[in-house]
Order: sequence, then C-alpha cells, then structure tokens
Amino acid sequence: MTGPQLDPAGRRAQVAAGLAAVERRIAAACVAAGRRRDAVTLIAVTKTFPAGDVRHLAALGVRDVGENKVQELAAKAADGAYAGLRLHLIGRLQSNKAALAGALTDVVHSLDRAKLIAGLVRGAEEAGRSLTVLLQVSLDGDPQRGGVPVEGVPDLARAVLDSPLRLGGVMAVAPLAIDPAVAFARLRAVSDSVLELAPGAGMISAGMSADLEDAVANGATHLRVGSAILGSRPPLG
Ligand SMILES: *Cc1c(COP(=O)(O)O)cnc(C)c1O
Repeated sequence: MTGPQLDPAGRRAQVAAGLAAVERRIAAACVAAGRRRDAVTLIAVTKTFPAGDVRHLAALGVRDVGENKVQELAAKAADGAYAGLRLHLIGRLQSNKAALAGALTDVVHSLDRAKLIAGLVRGAEEAGRSLTVLLQVSLDGDPQRGGVPVEGVPDLARAVLDSPLRLGGVMAVAPLAIDPAVAFARLRAVSDSVLELAPGAGMISAGMSADLEDAVANGATHLRVGSAILGSRPPLG
C-alpha cells in the first residue's frame, strides 16, 4: 500500500524517504551548478494530499508548502495545517478568488494579468499580510496554460510596482514541447530584465519533480516539487 492511506507512522516514513531523495537531488544539482544549497528553497507541493501530509512535512523540517487551488488551500488553512509555514499559491488564479488568495497566502506565483492585483491587495490588506507576487511567464506564448507572454512582462511588473504588493520575481512551468533547460534559460533572461526594473525582485520559481536539476542549473531560487516527495497524484490533481 502506498500513499496517505497508510497509518500515520508509515506515511511519515514514506514522506521522509521522498523528501530525503529530493534533498539529495537538489544537493547534487547545486554541486553540479556551483551554487550554494541555501540559495535554493524547496517548496513542497501538497495539492490533492491531505492536511496530515502537510503536518508530516512540517515535522520533517519543511518550511515552504505550495497549493494550486484556492479552495483546497482555504480548506487546509481552516484545518490549521499551515501554521508556522510559508504558503505559496502556484496555480492559475481566477479574479473572483484573488482576494481570498491574498488573505491566506504569503507568495502568489501565478500573477499573469494586472486584473488580479486589486483583489490580491484587498485580501492582503484586510488580513494584515504583506504579500509577495511572482510574474508567471508563458515561455512558449501559449496563453492556454496561464502566464504572461514575455513581451507583456515589463508592463505587468510596472503594475505590481505601482501597487502595495511586493514584486518577488518570476515563475514558469516548462512547456511540454520545449527542453526544460532551454525553457529555464529563457526564464533566467526574463528575470534579468525584471531585475533592471526592480533590483530586489530576484526570485526565480522554476523546476518540478521531473526537471528540478535543469532549474537549479539555470538559476532557480525556488523549486516546486510534489510527486517526487509525496507520491503520484490521482489524475487531474
Ligand atoms: C503540481 C505542480 C507542481 C509540482 O509538480 P510535480 O511534478 O508533482 O513535482 C509544480 N508547479 C505547479 C504550477 C504545479 O501545478
């Protein structure tokens, strides 16, 4: 038997093993890239997994967790699962959920249109939070999967800089049709252009279970890793 339906001690051991394996991969990728391990933050992506898994991760020393759906995140937040953790929203954001996202999260990785800013600001202000946002960049220009096209990045960056939100940097998911190393090199160039507008905005959120080594090699500061730690998700997760 695998997955969260194990008894708590068995599941804790399983999560610990997944986390250790990912930590070894990150350490090796940092050595290969000549980067310090502490230059890279691991975000454990807990989408579709129960609040109990978030608690196992916290007990194992994880400090950053990510979710892709505001509703699921709100349910686990109500359960108290994220206490003491930094919470990252990594999934596509609808404007009618922006205020709730702003109220509950620390970092929103998926800002891809200026229309979301007002709701995020309102939610963060009402909750008394300081919210960091990353610009999600579409590296193949296909708007289907979310992300602002590269040409739209400067205007979106300026819109954030004109708001009370903190511009943290950029985020991308490597498009299926592009070699992740090429995609992440492109993202690094976008990051350089954002740094010219906002010298503090150096976060680069890139890399998932399948391509974290390419992300580390191309300057990622934040990795979003789910299945390599927690196991496979049900389809459509
Ligand atoms: C699910 C998800 C991840 C993690 O993917 P894995 O392949 O499970 O590591 C990373 N980023 C985003 C945007 C996701 O939706």
